[in-house]
Amino acid sequence: THKNIGWNFDNSYARLPERFFEIAQPTEVSSPKTVLYNQQVAEDLGLVVKTLRTEEGTAIFAGNKIPEGAHPIAQAYAGHQFGNFTMLGDGRAVLLGEQVTPDGTRKDIQLKGSGRTPFSRGGDGRATLGPMLREYIISEAIHALGIPTNRSLAVVTTGESVMRETELPGAVLTRVAGSHLRIGTFEYAARWGSEEELRDLADYAIDRHYPGIEDNHDRYLTFFREVVKRQAELIAHWQLVGFIHGVMNTDNMTISGETIDYGPCAFMDEYDPATVFSSIDVQGRYAYQNQPGIGQWNLARFAEALLPLLHEKQEHAIEQAKEILGEYKDFYDASWLAGMRKKLGLHNQEKQDEALIQDLLEMMNEHNADFTNTFRALTLDKLEKTTMYGTDAFAVWYERWQTRLSRQEESKDTAIQLMKQSNPNVIPRNHRVEEALEAAVQKEDFSATEQLINVLSDPYAYTAEQEPYTELPEPSDRPYQTYC
Ligand code: AMP
Ligand code: MG
Ligand code: MG
Repeated sequence: THKNIGWNFDNSYARLPERFFEIAQPTEVSSPKTVLYNQQVAEDLGLVVKTLRTEEGTAIFAGNKIPEGAHPIAQAYAGHQFGNFTMLGDGRAVLLGEQVTPDGTRKDIQLKGSGRTPFSRGGDGRATLGPMLREYIISEAIHALGIPTNRSLAVVTTGESVMRETELPGAVLTRVAGSHLRIGTFEYAARWGSEEELRDLADYAIDRHYPGIEDNHDRYLTFFREVVKRQAELIAHWQLVGFIHGVMNTDNMTISGETIDYGPCAFMDEYDPATVFSSIDVQGRYAYQNQPGIGQWNLARFAEALLPLLHEKQEHAIEQAKEILGEYKDFYDASWLAGMRKKLGLHNQEKQDEALIQDLLEMMNEHNADFTNTFRALTLDKLEKTTMYGTDAFAVWYERWQTRLSRQEESKDTAIQLMKQSNPNVIPRNHRVEEALEAAVQKEDFSATEQLINVLSDPYAYTAEQEPYTELPEPSDRPYQTYC
C-alpha cells in the first residue's frame, strides 16, 4: 500500500560521507492523531491525498511507520548560537529522505519532535503541540506572502505528554524543505571534516541549489556569492513584512535561501526597529533592526568555512571572500528599496525615494504606528485622522508622496494595484496566533487554527472575510513574548 501513497524517495544526502549524518529511527508514539494536514503540499509532492488521510498516513506522520524508500537519518551540523560556536546536529528531528516530485523537484521530508537521536544532548527529542502549530501557521503564512520557506505538511498529536515547565501535549510536525543544508553544516565540515569532505559538501549543495554554476576555477567563489545574494534577498523580504525570525543562529540559516527553524518568531505590530519577541534574546541580538547585519555576520562564518576551497593561498581566499561579503549590503539595499518602492506604489526610480521611505518610517516609529496597517491604510486610502494621519507632518509627507506618484507614467489605479500586491492585508497577528494555539492546546479545538491558516493563505486578496483579522490587539502593558 505504500506505493499507493506516491512516495518516490531518493536519498542523496545519505550518499555523502558518513561524517555528515547518523542513522536514527523515529521513536514510536502511543496514539497518534492527525490534527492538521496540508492537502496542497501533499498534492505538489505527488502524494495521494486520500491515502494519507487514513491511519497509515497518521502512522507515517507520527514516525510509527517508515514509508517505503525512506532511510531515516539525523543530520550533523554545528553553528554559532548567539555568537558562540557549538556542535549541534538534529537532536529532535529525523530526515525520512528526499521525495522526488512529479515535476522532478527534490524535497526533504523531515519529522520534527520525533524523539531522541545520537545528536540529542540534554533534551527529550520531543516537541510540544503549541510550537508545532505555530511553525505550521507561520511557515505557511510566509509562503503565502511570497517568501522562500520550508512548508508544513502535517501535525500529529502523539497522545503522550511532554514535560516542560508543566506537562504539555506532544506533537510531531512533518516539514518539507528544499534541503536542510545550513551554514552550520559547512561550519561542521570545516571544523571536523577533511578538505575533500568539505568539497563534497559544497559540490552537493551546488548540484542541489545552484546547478547553473560552472565547474571552473571560480566555482566556489560563485557559489559563495550566490548564497550571499539569496540570503540578502531573503532578509530584505522579512523586513518588508515585519517578520522577526528570532533565532538567526548560523545553524538556522539555509544554503538554499529558504526560511527554516521557526522557533520564537513573530510579526511586529507597532513599528519599532528595536522589537524583540524571544524571551531568550535578552541582549536583542536578533532584534528587527539587527536582522540584516546578522545576516552578513552569519555569511562571514560561512566564508570562513569555505576558505580552503576559495583559493590555495589563504590571504587571497580571505581577500576575495571579503570582497563578496561587501556586496551583501548592495544586494540587501537593492532588494529592500525595490520592495519598499512597491509598497508605496512606485513603478519607477527616483533618487529621493529613499528619503521619502525613511521619513515615513521615522514618523511611524514616533507614533507607534502599526507596521502592516500603515501600508494597508495607504493602499486603501483609509487614513483615520485621529492618529498619525492627522498630524501636520504626515500631511506634508502625504503631499510629497502624491506629487511623487503623479510624476510617474502609471495611473493612480495602477499604483494601487501594485500596492495591493505588495502590502499584505493580513499577517499572523500575535494575538490571533495565541488565541488559536490556546484553543488547540487547552480544548483540542483546532477550528481557530484552521480558520487562521485559511485567512492567511491569500494575504493580498483584500477580502471581507479577512477584515476581522486586520484588527489590532487590545492595548497591553506587557510586551508580547515568545518561547522556544
Ligand atoms: P534550535 O535552536 O531550536 O534549532 O535547536 C538547537 C539544537 O538543540 C538542535 O540541535 C536541536 O535538535 C536541539 N534541541 C532542541 N530541542 C530539543 C529537544 N527537546 N530534545 C533534543 N534536542 C533538542
Ligand atoms: Mg535549529
Ligand atoms: Mg516607537
